[in-house]
Amino acid sequence: MKRLKRLDLSTETLTFLRDRSDGVAVSPDPRAEAARLWRQQSNKAFQELRETLGKMASGLERCMYCEDSEGTAIEHFWPKSVYPERAFDWLNYLIACSRCNSNFKRDQFPLDAAGAPLLVNPSEEEPLDHLSFSPSTGRFEPRSPKGDPSIDVFGLNRTTLTKGELLLGQASSSS
Ligand SMILES: [Zn+2]
Repeated sequence: MKRLKRLDLSTETLTFLRDRSDGVAVSPDPRAEAARLWRQQSNKAFQELRETLGKMASGLERCMYCEDSEGTAIEHFWPKSVYPERAFDWLNYLIACSRCNSNFKRDQFPLDAAGAPLLVNPSEEEPLDHLSFSPSTGRFEPRSPKGDPSIDVFGLNRTTLTKGELLLGQASSSS
């Protein structure tokens, strides 16, 4: 996981997101409305969202959690099923691969006692402050209270991933 810089959107797309957020806010069932509106993505705004997230990612549209696979879906850091008010918030969007998004994170979102996320958000903080990768074990190790929950929820120590990271580690240490 690498620190990412969030890029700016056009005024049109920000207005589009604000309109959808307003629609969720006034709905008697915000969760259902967020889910319904989320399915409507065939428009210019979503094209720009996907392109901008692709540019923010490290490498070519890499998953922002594992960096191992192509980021194929817009990921809500704060899950939209639990926090529908953040369903159309640009600051809440990352891109993730289907394994990180669907097999691992899903709607898991641990919070600390003060209500702050216990997961590392690579667009808001330096992942190295919370996680380190050990080339000798091929595994991520926690460096802060966010370390273990992030490793667990994002599945960062899954076997296929640590093998890939190991190869990367070998490649960079031999060069
Ligand atoms: Zn991933």
